[in-house]
Amino acid sequence: MKTVTILGATGSVGTSTLDLIERAPGAFRVRALTANSDVAKLASVAIRTRAERAVIADEAHLPALRDALAGSGVVAAGGAEAVAEAAGEGADVTVAAIVGCAGLKPVMAAIRAGGTIALANKEALVSAGDVMKAAIVDHGATLLPVDSEHNAIFQCLDARLSHRIRRIILTASGGPFRDRPLAEMAEITPAQAVAHPNWSMGAKISVDSATMMNKGLELIEAFHLFPLGHEQIDIVVHRQSVIHSMVEYVDGSTLAQLGTPDMRTPIAYALAWPDRMATPGEPLDLTRIGRLDFEAPDPVRFPALRLAREAVEAGGARPAVLNAANEVAVAAFLGGGARFLEIAAIVADTLERFDPPAPQTLDAVLDIDREARRLAAECVKERVA
Ligand code: NAD
Ligand code: MG
Repeated sequence: MKTVTILGATGSVGTSTLDLIERAPGAFRVRALTANSDVAKLASVAIRTRAERAVIADEAHLPALRDALAGSGVVAAGGAEAVAEAAGEGADVTVAAIVGCAGLKPVMAAIRAGGTIALANKEALVSAGDVMKAAIVDHGATLLPVDSEHNAIFQCLDARLSHRIRRIILTASGGPFRDRPLAEMAEITPAQAVAHPNWSMGAKISVDSATMMNKGLELIEAFHLFPLGHEQIDIVVHRQSVIHSMVEYVDGSTLAQLGTPDMRTPIAYALAWPDRMATPGEPLDLTRIGRLDFEAPDPVRFPALRLAREAVEAGGARPAVLNAANEVAVAAFLGGGARFLEIAAIVADTLERFDPPAPQTLDAVLDIDREARRLAAECVKERVA
């Protein structure tokens, strides 16, 4: 039996992870489940999976969590520190499925405990990059990518042959607005932006897919996960989301991982690794799909891609600033305080105002994240004024 902790157990990735665990009785034992504020959902999954501990990040909800768990045998805890503490207890596999840089401290705590981290929370790696990678080495932890593109590359990439790789190709669905003319993009609403054509996901990553900042973050994520230069990472729009990404070797062989767009496949891969486990997803029926399309992304309609490319090229603190500004801009858009095309503009404004030196510690990353958020919020206000 593997022990599992899920950070962000009530979200889209967390729910898919619990679905797999509940379908494999006897294979996993749940240590801790954490959530931000959804007490009812957290308590119900914790009781159902007989978790040792349930942690609510928003401490105001701790009394309600205690009530909901009374008599169940599940220990209740609350507060951001308690989330990091639960992560720091370690587990054979820690599924990092919190959204945003809010997940960074718990991920670092899990790394320090030295187990396997199944990483969905790309913002943590984008922000902390080298600091996180150094901690992984220092503590003998293992980082397995859950993000479908990176999981695909992980499956196709032979690390012993990294010097024989020409490039990797990240596929992008292009999001809901891949065919929308620029002139019509100014009017895009949050409801339209979160309706992804291929994947059902949390609100933040859905907006990131719509702006294609998601692919920009994934470019930075891939740069940190795989032993390649950023110029060896290409992006191609593939609207069917069947090929999840590809690795091209120097001999002209290109290896791809294919599957229906269902996050349970990459999550299962990370949970079972180095073994594999069954998932209940639709098997791939290529004759029904019929065709696979590919095109280059449009840099004019999706400026977020250029911002991310520049950030990974410059390195240092640039990706952390980019990520923090994007989180603020997306939250503003979802809350009606910014327009769709302003998201990338707010990120660009913040990058222009803030260029701190490369962070060497977790605290330095968190300081940069905090200051970038403050400046991004100012940029949002100035646009409204
Ligand atoms: P979601 O919004 O559905 O869920 C987020 C989870 O994080 C919830 O459990 C929530 O309670 C928790 N959370 C939010 N803010 C928190 C905070 N401040 N402190 C502690 N916990 C907090 O998001 P999601 O779609 O499941 O995505 C999670 C992560 O996985 C993101 O980084 C996303 O980019 C990545 N990812 C998601 C998918 C997908 O299909 N959903 C695919 C690839 C990568
Ligand atoms: Mg992805």
